[in-house]
Amino acid sequence: MKAAILHGKEQIKIEELTPRSLEPGEVRIDIQAALTCGTDLKVFKRGYHAKMIAPPAVFGHELAGVISEVGAPLTPSLSPSDGERVAAQPGERLSVGPGEWHVGDRVAVANSAPCGDCFFCGQNQENLCDDLLFLNGAYAESIVVPARLAQKNLLRLKPGTDFRDAALTEPLGCVVQGIEDLKLRAGQRLLVIGSGPIGLMFVAVAKHLGCTVSLAGRGDNRLKKARQLGAATVIDAANPSDLAEAVLKESRASFDVVIEAVGKPETWEAAVQWVRKGGAVNFFGGCPSGSTVSLDTARIHYSGLTLLASFHHTPRTIRRALELIESGIIKAADFVDGECPLSELPQLFQSMAAGNRAVKTLVRVHE
Ligand SMILES: [Zn+2]
Ligand SMILES: [Zn+2]
Repeated sequence: MKAAILHGKEQIKIEELTPRSLEPGEVRIDIQAALTCGTDLKVFKRGYHAKMIAPPAVFGHELAGVISEVGAPLTPSLSPSDGERVAAQPGERLSVGPGEWHVGDRVAVANSAPCGDCFFCGQNQENLCDDLLFLNGAYAESIVVPARLAQKNLLRLKPGTDFRDAALTEPLGCVVQGIEDLKLRAGQRLLVIGSGPIGLMFVAVAKHLGCTVSLAGRGDNRLKKARQLGAATVIDAANPSDLAEAVLKESRASFDVVIEAVGKPETWEAAVQWVRKGGAVNFFGGCPSGSTVSLDTARIHYSGLTLLASFHHTPRTIRRALELIESGIIKAADFVDGECPLSELPQLFQSMAAGNRAVKTLVRVHE
């Protein structure tokens, strides 16, 4: 099968790989839709991701497809220390295999699964699991889903669900996490900073929840998209130094909630300036590791601000994301504005790194 391999900084090659045989509990997905993502662009530019991917490695993580092979059933594991059978928690499924997944099942899969055993998993904070198992390899004809992912974050699609829509499940799961952490509710005035796919998804979901949404970002097509998705005010931040002025003019720091979906220290700092007294800021965009920010303590304290940062998703928010997709609230047509064959993926990432402002590109893995 053909697959994109990340070899390091700005190095992707399309290679022919021999599909490996399945271990118990694993399934193989014939990929029908793979989407580009801002995280993949970051990884392409850096050549690695500390948590998610170490080259050389198959690349890409937003996908949907059809199960083409199912491994042997997973037998309950034995604890190596005492040999006793590991007990199933109430409601936990210990086995996958012919009974649960079948060849021909239409599915979406998240890009990680939590361990279920660590302190954070025990607190229902699976997004912070100490042992997240990541899955990469969406830019390929097929992918093997490890047993843990097949158990926890492989989701069956309704018969009419389009694969392109379903491939949005993972990024949308992160957005749902961000919105739930904020306890966003109808009537709130929200500013989204950043017009990438994540910022635009925040606009769509917040609008659906009944918020009044403003967006500050760049790129004519992306800003147009923000308006189409329901942003009442759109601020062109092509010149970052003008952004603060533009937002203050628009709003006089009257936002109940500000979501930073860029991942730059300067926009983290700006977000705190634009929220109202008693409001909340979600530092959603991850900055390069080692970055620091400088924040006005008096403003934070005397304005009673709530500052939080959402990372990743949980099995629950992944499922909620697929519900939003399958109820037609989030559609690929609103976010996917280009298509590219797998063979041209290296050039596509070069152009994204050079600043092409496509929102998301559908990668055709079967040419
Ligand atoms: Zn993504
Ligand atoms: Zn865990």
